Amino acid sequence: EKKQTINFGAGPAKLPQAVFIFLLHPEMSHRSADFSKIINTTENLLRELLNVPENYKILFLQGGGSGQFSGVPLNLIGLKEDRCADYLVTGTWSARAAKEAEKYGKVNVIHPKLDSYTKIPDSSTWSLNPSASYVYYCCNETVHGVEFNFIPDTKGVVLVSDMSSNFLSRPVDVSKFGLIFAGAQKNVGCAGVTVVIVREDLMGKALKECPIILDYQVQAGNNSLYNTPPCFSIYIMGLVLEWIKNNGGADAMERLNVQKSNIIYDLINHSNGFYSCPVDMACRSRMNIPFRIGKKEGDENLEKLFLDGASKLGMISLKGHRSVGGIRASLYNAVTVEDVKALAAYMEEFFNNHQ
Ligand code: PMP
Repeated sequence: EKKQTINFGAGPAKLPQAVFIFLLHPEMSHRSADFSKIINTTENLLRELLNVPENYKILFLQGGGSGQFSGVPLNLIGLKEDRCADYLVTGTWSARAAKEAEKYGKVNVIHPKLDSYTKIPDSSTWSLNPSASYVYYCCNETVHGVEFNFIPDTKGVVLVSDMSSNFLSRPVDVSKFGLIFAGAQKNVGCAGVTVVIVREDLMGKALKECPIILDYQVQAGNNSLYNTPPCFSIYIMGLVLEWIKNNGGADAMERLNVQKSNIIYDLINHSNGFYSCPVDMACRSRMNIPFRIGKKEGDENLEKLFLDGASKLGMISLKGHRSVGGIRASLYNAVTVEDVKALAAYMEEFFNNHQ
């Protein structure tokens, strides 16, 4: 029998327990009435949970968040003749998105000289280009644990956000955005489906080399069924959205995520530097908490000991991303307050034994 574990991984992440009691025949045709019902229900739940205005389309696409690093410029960089876009680069994922966009137009990287991704420079220092087709940012940098707690003011330029790792972890005013995208595998389901929420008037200006499956207008015109969609992942997303709704919606998720992340940050802040998080207080992520143990730059032996001990207790996937090392606790929606308390108790005990 499988041992009970708590998955603190950055994604694919833990799914709510309640979702496991449902089963679906995975061979269902995507043209069947049953599947139509599933995709429509999933879309309606998303609309309801995020208050998505009527003039926005919701698409369910393949290709992951990375697919949208290409999809966004291919569809939107031609909105204005200059083919320019501004990218706020605050971590690995926005850096990758900016690099991909350079294939299709002129990219102005707003934070080109950050020596480490631990803060968001004050918006008064950003030199945004008023004739850019769009301004792009990553709302939560999963590797570095840097999260925007405000919506950037673009002075009217179309705003695009990668919300892969904090989607539905809090309410968001969709009307402030031209486009939001998010892979499902962190907060709203399993890998395989990526949600794109796009304002209708921005569609129809894709570059001619845009692959047809990434063309928002084509996908919107076909209710995301231009080609075979990731049926099973969409079904699971519907179940997770229903679970979010039954548990109080985006507001309740936010309250829980604040409570959960505070438990770990408070513990880090009161550990006399034994645990340390390099991220500026103002932009610490509620979703992904990177930290080091022993000293600021991390004592790798202690960190290994920490991970081994955690794994013996069933707490898995706590290793930091290979590019930054250390530890990373990801506290997505499905991770419960009890899960986080178990981690905190272990951190407390580890501190007492090794400080
Ligand atoms: N954006 C963010 C913020 C991510 O965390 C990730 C993956 N961890 C991606 C994009 C890439 O997503 P995918 O692996 O689905 O392509």
